[in-house]
Amino acid sequence: MMKEINLNIGGLTPFSTIDFPNHLATIVYTQGCNFRCPYCHNLPLVDCLEIPISYEKIYEFLQARKRIIDGVVITGGEPTLQKELPAFCAWLRNMGFAVKLDTNGTKPLMLKLLIEKHLVDYIAMDIKAPWDKYQIVTHTSFPIELIQQSVSLLKETGFPCEFRTTVHSGLLTFRDLEKIVHIVGQNHLLCLQVARPTPFYKEKNEYTKENLEGFIKKFPKYKLEVR
Ligand code: SF4
Repeated sequence: MMKEINLNIGGLTPFSTIDFPNHLATIVYTQGCNFRCPYCHNLPLVDCLEIPISYEKIYEFLQARKRIIDGVVITGGEPTLQKELPAFCAWLRNMGFAVKLDTNGTKPLMLKLLIEKHLVDYIAMDIKAPWDKYQIVTHTSFPIELIQQSVSLLKETGFPCEFRTTVHSGLLTFRDLEKIVHIVGQNHLLCLQVARPTPFYKEKNEYTKENLEGFIKKFPKYKLEVR
C-alpha cells in the first residue's frame, strides 16, 4: 500500500497517448495554483474546489493499470506548490513509472531538487509571456526572477524538457511571441498552443493553428511546434 503522502490530488485522466512523449500515461491533477491565467481551464482545481482523491484510490488505480501505462504526468493547478511532490515522484518511480511534470516554473528550488534527485524524467514548463507582461497574463504580481531561474536551470542542465506558451490575442501579440522564442533559444523545444474559450474568458482569439504555423516558419533555426 502507498505510504501516506500529503498531496492534494483533485482529478485523474486514466489514459493519454499525447501528454508524455514516448509514453502511455495516466494524468494526475494537483489542486491549487499561484497564477490566475484568464484562459485557465482548470479553475476548480486552481481554487481547490474538487474533493481530493484518497491515496488508496490512487494506489489501486495505478496498480490496476501497471501493465497498460508506463508513465504518469503530474499537472495541475501547479504541482510544485505541493511540499510532498518529491515523495510522490519517488513513490511513482519505485512503482516503475516514468514521471513527467507540468509546471509554471515559479518554484526553481523544487525543480532543482527533482532534477538532482532523479525524481522526474521530463519537465514541461510554461512561459506565459515575455518578462514585461507576466503580471498582465497571470493576473498576479510574482518575482519574475524565479521564473527566469527555472528557465536557466532547464536550459543549463540539459534536462529533457519542453517550454510551452498558451496564446490568446487578447493577451499576447506576435511581437510578444517573438520575444518568447528568443527566451527559449534555438536548443530547446517551444510549443505554442491556441487558448480555447472558457466560460470566464470569452474574448475572441485571433490566433489559429494556421496563423501560428505561418509564424513559426519565420524561425527555421528554432525548435518550434504548434499544438
Ligand atoms: S498556471 Fe496553469 S493552472 Fe495555474 S492558473 Fe495558469 S493555466 Fe491555470
